[in-house]
Amino acid sequence: MTSYCGINCEECEAFIATQNQDNHLKTQVAKRWSALYGRQIKPEEVFCKGCRSKGTQGIYCHTMCPIKPCCRERQIETCAECEKFVCKDLQQVFNFCNDAKKKLMSLKEQSSRSNPDPDNEP
Ligand code: SF4
Ligand code: SF4
Repeated sequence: MTSYCGINCEECEAFIATQNQDNHLKTQVAKRWSALYGRQIKPEEVFCKGCRSKGTQGIYCHTMCPIKPCCRERQIETCAECEKFVCKDLQQVFNFCNDAKKKLMSLKEQSSRSNPDPDNEP
């Protein structure tokens, strides 16, 4: 499940802990997130069904991420479709998740192969 920013939700510990109802993993994630976001996060707040789901997401994805609302407003599936790719918000995700960068770069490449820019055609 590729998110708007290229992160694969199925590899996120919060998503995995939710799917498996794994309270031990939730406790570990809550400790890491508390340190990362500078606020106390309880294990029961570690609950995520994925970036595109209608349910609750992890604290960053649910309340802090600027990327999801931006893509929704632009009515695009991922940032790879955006003319501002790579903007500073997306660069922040890429800084900690190289796999997200690889995924969106590859989507962008695929899309330019199937829709070549007529201005750059020989
Ligand atoms: S909510 Fe934002 S940071 Fe989280 S996976 Fe979705 S686009 Fe990426
Ligand atoms: S401006 Fe474009 S690249 Fe940046 S977050 Fe919004 S959709 Fe993604």
